[in-house]
Amino acid sequence: MTHRRIAVRLLAGVVAAVAAAGLAACGTAEEALPDNQVVAEPPRPIGMQDPAIVPTGPAASSGSCDPRASLRPSGSLPRPRQMPAGTAMATIVQRGRLIVGVDQNNYQFGFRDPLTGQLTGFDVDIAREIARGLFGDPGRIQFRAISSADRITAVQEGTVDLVVRTMTMNCERWQQVSFSTEYFTAGQRVLVNRGSGVRRIEDLRDRKVCAAAGSTSIRNIAAKGTRPVSVVNWTDCLVLLQQNQVVAVSTDDSILVGLAAQDPNTEVVGPRFSDEPYGVAISRESPELVRFVNGVLARIRSDGTWTQLYRRWLTSLGPAPAPPVARYRD
Ligand code: GLU
Repeated sequence: MTHRRIAVRLLAGVVAAVAAAGLAACGTAEEALPDNQVVAEPPRPIGMQDPAIVPTGPAASSGSCDPRASLRPSGSLPRPRQMPAGTAMATIVQRGRLIVGVDQNNYQFGFRDPLTGQLTGFDVDIAREIARGLFGDPGRIQFRAISSADRITAVQEGTVDLVVRTMTMNCERWQQVSFSTEYFTAGQRVLVNRGSGVRRIEDLRDRKVCAAAGSTSIRNIAAKGTRPVSVVNWTDCLVLLQQNQVVAVSTDDSILVGLAAQDPNTEVVGPRFSDEPYGVAISRESPELVRFVNGVLARIRSDGTWTQLYRRWLTSLGPAPAPPVARYRD
């Protein structure tokens, strides 16, 4: 068995145990690692949301703005550790580490490798590239594990410098935070137990479907006439599916393939029914940091790093496409 396959098997066990502990005992212990400490949010109880009170927000592609358009990098990137005075980047360099909100329960995007104990995944590596741009060292980073529902407040309250956590850029969220350019394109699909007979989201009308609170996914499934069940972490949804407490899980295909890899009894079905462009969330008060992050993203798109990271983490989604094209609104 390859190292990677062993890791997947171990991870499936770890994730199921952590998720079960979260559901049953409401407590997951997180140890702080010396080089990348994690602060875990206490799990909240699950609940079934009344579809009537789940707000239906604008899809990423609709609304009053171009959700993909961000600020253009200002010239070439400053040299690591030599950030212009008075900028958010200078403050971060002075502090000595970048603080980033990530997921730790999302296999392939943000999760803890059980063999190394390190947080890893596509989002985590994107964050490390930003630390490399600031410090010349991808290890100058502190991770905070945050849930979908906590992303916006974490940025607004400044408990993190950035959120890199499968976060869809849409017009409503642009009112609350700023975003980088798009660094990944996802779309919402459905995960079911094999042999369930469910083929697409339309088959799930009036049936219980799980998604994380505070995600675009929970709104999208409410709009499709399902009975949404909300949880804190995506792996909690997998446990509910395994226990037959819900008929399906529905979120971005990027997340669902990670859940399916942990339980071969499940499968991803149906076409995409939403557009979910991912951006790095940044405070609206730091446009210079938005431009800096966009400079780093421009570098990793053009020097092959993006493709390398895709091949490292996301081959289960198929061969690496071209990176998303940056759109700027100056
Ligand atoms: N991309 C969706 C969102 O930003 C779902 C992913 C998630 O919540 O982690 O809400």
